[in-house]
Amino acid sequence: MKFINLTRQTEIGANSYYLEVDDQKLVLDSGMHPKNEGDDALPNFKALADRKLDAILLSHAHQDHIGTLPVLMRRQPDARVFMTDAAGEIGSILLHNSVNVMTRQREEIGATLYPLFTHREAERAFDQWHFCPMRQRITTSGERARPQDQDVVTFEFFDAGHVLGSAGIMLRSRTQTIFYTGDVQFDDQTIMQAADFPEEKIDIMIMECTRGDHATPPGWTRAGEERRLAEAIIEAFRRGGCVLIPVFALGKTQEFLAMIHQFRRENLLGDFPIYIGGLSSKMTDTYDRRASMTRRRLPRLQLMQEVAPFILNGQTIGDAPARAGRVYALSSGMMTPKTLSNIFARRVIEDPRHSVFFVGYADPASPAGLLRETSAGQEIKLDPDQPAQRVQCHMQAFQFSAHATRESLIAYAKKISPRKIVLVHGDPQAVEWMRATLATELPGAEIIAPPPGVELEL
Ligand SMILES: [Zn+2]
Ligand SMILES: [Zn+2]
Repeated sequence: MKFINLTRQTEIGANSYYLEVDDQKLVLDSGMHPKNEGDDALPNFKALADRKLDAILLSHAHQDHIGTLPVLMRRQPDARVFMTDAAGEIGSILLHNSVNVMTRQREEIGATLYPLFTHREAERAFDQWHFCPMRQRITTSGERARPQDQDVVTFEFFDAGHVLGSAGIMLRSRTQTIFYTGDVQFDDQTIMQAADFPEEKIDIMIMECTRGDHATPPGWTRAGEERRLAEAIIEAFRRGGCVLIPVFALGKTQEFLAMIHQFRRENLLGDFPIYIGGLSSKMTDTYDRRASMTRRRLPRLQLMQEVAPFILNGQTIGDAPARAGRVYALSSGMMTPKTLSNIFARRVIEDPRHSVFFVGYADPASPAGLLRETSAGQEIKLDPDQPAQRVQCHMQAFQFSAHATRESLIAYAKKISPRKIVLVHGDPQAVEWMRATLATELPGAEIIAPPPGVELEL
């Protein structure tokens, strides 16, 4: 089996991986880098050289996994594209939103390559996707695998518990099994149920490492963390300010709304206005529409109706005042310049009455990552086109990750005990901790941190 890491660095960037299994040439995911621009936002597709892909398999619809799919499809018009139907619905919303963002960036930063694809291409791409249910073996030509299909390569999606529609992908060849975790969460979240991953023999595991450099604090529980968040919101309102929570439009927004719903039901919090972004509201609609069809917790909860958030968009954010006693759960999660959370943050960080709460992953070099590490009184420039500001607001961090703890990743690897483990989707320190720990815990296994762009024989 051949493997090429198509990310440009060891990082959580534009995730994409090439696999050659028997005679099948496949790519797993086709992400867009959350921070880089232009060519650097794309995976290193040049490393594919003139290989003709048979199939492209998508783990889920976060930007860093699906964001450049129309570009890859343009380069590989004959490759079949597979994902779960929920990922397809969300992915389509995300890609159209991305065209709008890139069109704006073309003017703002003079990115002449942008948009990398058009609305028409995003639409045509959607028409060509094949949607697959969880836990069904499918051949790379899109047929349901029959018992006599022993010597063809098949794939199967397993619920990854990360966000709606997220899946780990099992590939079975004549001689071996390869499992790609995608982004996974092995614990229940407020809406998402824990991953439902295979427990059979796996020869090669391609594993995400997002939280590899963070030990779970002793005594941490999700229930305890939820209570801490509810109390922090009450405190923030007492200071006479509002709360800004930068969140991903997909996943964290819906988990947060569900938490608020629970807090109200348990009388931990009263009623107060909540604001979310336009993209987030579309994705929340998808969660609501699919509530009873998907494997999840709170299957009857209709977030848009019962939590009833107000919606802000690129036009209305300009006039939206930071009002006391309100929560603004706005994307992007990393506070990328020009996004709602970045624009709103610049309105609140100089005021000691206001609060910013961090509830998930943010790249350390992103505006959200930088703000989190800034102490009161220090200056920060959240947008390169805007003046620096002195941070005076209250800040607090919570742990509601949609990614598996490093302890649970190690436990899964030990339970399955693959022959080889390929470590992806992590910053260098995270990958290194996972590599060193797995080398000790699974001495018989080969642990590989794949260098970008290099073809490996597995
Ligand atoms: Zn993800
Ligand atoms: Zn990811």
